[in-house]
Formats: sequence, C-alpha cells, structure tokens
Amino acid sequence: MLRGAVCKKCRRSGEKLFLRGERCFTPKCAMVKKPYPPGTHGKKRKSALSEYGSQLAEKQKLRKIYNVNEAQLKKYFKEASRSKGVATEILLVKLETRIDNAIFRLGFAESRAKARQIVSHGHIVLNDKKIDIPSIHIKKGDTIRIKKSSLVGPLFNGLAIKLKKYNPPVWLSLDKENLSANVLSAPSKDDIESNVDLQTIVEYYSR
Ligand code: SF4
Repeated sequence: MLRGAVCKKCRRSGEKLFLRGERCFTPKCAMVKKPYPPGTHGKKRKSALSEYGSQLAEKQKLRKIYNVNEAQLKKYFKEASRSKGVATEILLVKLETRIDNAIFRLGFAESRAKARQIVSHGHIVLNDKKIDIPSIHIKKGDTIRIKKSSLVGPLFNGLAIKLKKYNPPVWLSLDKENLSANVLSAPSKDDIESNVDLQTIVEYYSR
C-alpha cells in the first residue's frame, strides 16, 4: 500500500493510529500536517456520527490498527463471544497473539503491515519451524526467531542496534543479541495499550 494511503486511514479515523513506525512521532506525520479527513471537502466535514456510525468507525479503527480484514475480525469476535470470559478482553488477546503482531511488538518491524510482510515472506521461525502465515497465534512457551539466512540480508540490517533502547511488552522476552524471543505468558488486558473502545465494537457486531 502507498505511504499516503496508509496515512489516510488515520485522517479518516480522525486520530493517529501509528501505522508507520518512527514517522508517526515526527512533524512529518500527516495528522500533524493535515489533521482533517482526506478529500476536497475534508476540512469542512464536521457532522456528528450516528450511534451506528460511531460503532462502525471504532470497528474500522481496530481493523486498521491490527491490519486485519473484516472476515478475520468478525471471526475473532464470534470466537470471543462464544468463549468463557469477557468478550472484549478475549478479542484483544486474539489480535495481540497473532504472530505478525508479536513481530511488531518485539521491535522486529516498524509497523504491523511490515511485520505481516516479514512473516509471509518466510523470514520468521516459530518453534524451530519456518512459518509464512501471519495469522498464526502464539502461546506461552513458544520460541520466535528471525531465520538465520534472513539476518544477513538488508531487511534486518542495523536491527540489533535499534533494539538496544527498545523494551517489548512484559509477556514477551526478547534476546536482543540473537534476535530471538520467548512467549512468557498470554498477554492480559493490562499489558495491551489500546485506544479503542472495544465495547462499542462488541455492540456493532451484536446488532
Ligand atoms: Fe501516517 Fe503514522 Fe501519522 Fe498515522 S500516525 S498519519 S500512519 S505518520
């Protein structure tokens, strides 16, 4: 996807979704330069959303943040609502334990979109087995590493240096020298930073 198209997702949502790594924290961020919806009439659009519109917008925001399609998100919601426990928390954990998200959280990729590409191009080894499916879920005890032959290519050049100041979430243990990791536990809701109103999304899918 073109870079400008990625930033339009934020501009449509009306808030930063942090989809482009370091750029999101600079004045080059499109939400700094053009903090209004894209399009000719973007600056003038100010009408309040209906209840349904708000729910839809929140659901789209979650999809964009985790870079998943509608079918995947709906599937996660159905599984979460059938499980024992709080549906909103289970939904979040399902998204968070995707291997592409873990690669992003470990700092191996600057965005989830990039992490997804890294996984689907076969650069990641999960439990000593090369994988290429970004939606695989990880669990406690799993080991994750970058494929040895991929480490010598340009993709991960300078990564070890970048990671020196980086701390992954507490449920992941990162070996910064060997660029490998262990899953210490399932993430709890307190471990996951989220600016999404998940209850609104549950209401959207429950309609
Ligand atoms: Fe683009 Fe990141 Fe800014 Fe969003 S937060 S507009 S993805 S630079």
